[in-house]
Amino acid sequence: MTVTEKLCPRERYYLKCPYEREPDRMVLHNTGNDAPAINEITYMINRPEEVSFHFAVDDTGAVRGLPLERNAWASGDGRGPGNMLGIHIEICYSKSGGERFHKAEDNAARLTAELLRERGWGLDRVTKHQDYDGKYCPHRTLDMGWERFLCVVKKYLEGDNMDYEKFREYMDRYHRELEARTVSDWAKDTWGWAEDNGLLDGSSPRAPLTREQAAMVLYRVLSPREGA
Ligand SMILES: [Zn+2]
Repeated sequence: MTVTEKLCPRERYYLKCPYEREPDRMVLHNTGNDAPAINEITYMINRPEEVSFHFAVDDTGAVRGLPLERNAWASGDGRGPGNMLGIHIEICYSKSGGERFHKAEDNAARLTAELLRERGWGLDRVTKHQDYDGKYCPHRTLDMGWERFLCVVKKYLEGDNMDYEKFREYMDRYHRELEARTVSDWAKDTWGWAEDNGLLDGSSPRAPLTREQAAMVLYRVLSPREGA
């Protein structure tokens, strides 16, 4: 997911982000509009009001307009924790919804997960505009289910943390589970036959067969038996 920058000029900090701060949470919004991210950021910077946010995210990526170490005026709580401590993300195309909104929301989930990971934050840091002044925002994300959105963020947060060691650990556990399984009802007779005839040793009926094991089975079937 690409993040580009279209930064608010310093001479407008007094209006858009007057306070330096250390952020401690994410705050999600929907634009209630149908414009792409770059337009949302440009409009945010230019409109002569105390309205601002850090990122706008659309179906192609994110655009950052404010430094993260400065506040924004986005969650309607004055100098409360939303505005003063939040990293604010606007999800584009929420007015009409549809495929481009879904992509935008997915990108916002990816961006949120990246920022959480960068900072060593957990999912509990992900909040919504509604938490601060009661406004029904992010409206379409809420309509579709806030928990659902959090699950997507969680997926990206955990998925990308999967390293090789962890993967091995999961695979080993999976194989141990397979090896512990008993023979399926439908295969019982055949399994017994294979064991009785010395083709298989009767262990781990539902574990995968390696090529060397296959070669051994074939050898037992096809090679001339001693004394035969
Ligand atoms: Zn909002």
